[in-house]
Amino acid sequence: MTYDYDLFVIGAGSGGVRAARLSAQAGKKVAIAEQSRVGGTCVIRGCVPKKLMVYASELGDAIGHARGYGWSAENVTFSWDTLRDRIAAEVDRLNGIYNGILARNNVELFDHRAVLKDAHTIHIAGENRDVTAEKILIAVGGTPSRDESVDPDHIGLVSDDIFSLPEQPKRLIIAGGGYIAIEFAHIFAGLGTEVTLVYRGERLLRAFDPEISERVERDLKARGIRYISNAVFTDISVKNGEKCVELINGDVLHADEIMWAIGRRPLTDSLGLERCGIEVDKVGAILVNEDYQTTIPSVFAIGDVTNRVNLTPVAIREGAAFASTQMSGVPKRMDYHFIPKAVFSQPPVGTVGPSETECIEAGHEVDVYTADFRPMKNVLAESDERMFMKLVVDRANDRVLGCHLVGEDAPEMIQIAAIAVKAGLTKAQFDETCALHPTAAEELVTMTNKRSGRI
Ligand code: NDP
Repeated sequence: MTYDYDLFVIGAGSGGVRAARLSAQAGKKVAIAEQSRVGGTCVIRGCVPKKLMVYASELGDAIGHARGYGWSAENVTFSWDTLRDRIAAEVDRLNGIYNGILARNNVELFDHRAVLKDAHTIHIAGENRDVTAEKILIAVGGTPSRDESVDPDHIGLVSDDIFSLPEQPKRLIIAGGGYIAIEFAHIFAGLGTEVTLVYRGERLLRAFDPEISERVERDLKARGIRYISNAVFTDISVKNGEKCVELINGDVLHADEIMWAIGRRPLTDSLGLERCGIEVDKVGAILVNEDYQTTIPSVFAIGDVTNRVNLTPVAIREGAAFASTQMSGVPKRMDYHFIPKAVFSQPPVGTVGPSETECIEAGHEVDVYTADFRPMKNVLAESDERMFMKLVVDRANDRVLGCHLVGEDAPEMIQIAAIAVKAGLTKAQFDETCALHPTAAEELVTMTNKRSGRI
């Protein structure tokens, strides 16, 4: 049996593009289909434009701090239009680079939606024709969720909509207590928007170390973000040009914009999976084995569509492992242990390894080392913002199991600390490393404040 392609990739995001490029470089005939823009969530409507907005938001603070260092900065203004348009231009540039990667590697691009027809056939919707491939890789990612029962008319925005907003909202209400809710609450608060965060639970960033969540909540409130816990939206409406949210306790809040940040779901609707016998779980995530193979042996899936660890670098590694195993014949698997994570709140979070609670629940007896200080930079800046660091150490063998940080540059620090934690270094080895002075990160190798682990 001959096929049109050795590999057909559906979805040109971070994972799909990496898999396509490496497969083509291995000498395979590869095609890729993308219904939106090449680059996917991360580049077009996620990590990259979001981080640029974080930088913009932080600069507002920096201007205030600069005064403490002798600079005068009067009549400072902010233009949403400038920021939005400059970010859009940067996204266009990156989109061009991604298109270039595909073209240079002779990966054929279909600018259309593609759906599965059978184990080796893909239907290209825009061209109304079928193509065949020996192997098919699904890398279509996810999409933001909203509660359709509360917002059937889509009055509320989702993160995809933020980057093209015609105007900066003066008042914004956000639902959720995870990454996106917290990051956008800070972005908009920093740009001058009055932000209210409504979370259904008690503890924001529930999956993180409890002390990290506490700090994030404190920092959020310190920045003037209104935080309402144990509440959900029960109704959304528009009255007199104003958006209104009714909460479960009957309170009604008014805003210019409302945003859902209540998680993302795999983008598997109408992809033809059922027709082909590809199994999905109850949220629509494609079930795969350790080699990303679905229940149909010729069809594979990587990244957010499998809803495992929904982060760009994970999708990229999965794409690379798939290409190596299936296209180059060199078996490779992604190692999911000690993946560093960041939340770009202000200040941000950086974390690697299990939380204190998770370590104890897993049966470890642990000692916990903490440092809590005002970074030197904040003194003349007259900022009360603090840095919090925490090492969770296995008492049995002194190994550092987890490192959890909140404070300026925490994501940059955690990327490096993750090497040591993943390598299984001990607290004694951290301490043997000479400090680099004066930095905030030096506290990571000088931590003496110790207590026993507790749940
Ligand atoms: P998260 O899973 O991080 O958080 C979802 C939040 O919404 C939780 O607080 C959850 O509450 C709450 N929630 C869920 N369902 C409802 C509901 N029906 N009504 C009200 N609240 C609800 O999702 P995000 O949307 O913030 O982000 C999606 C994913 O994108 C992340 O998990 C992450 O993988 C990725 N991402 C990563 C970033 C980074 O690396 N910096 C940045 C942005 C996104 P509860 O806690 O009770 O479950």
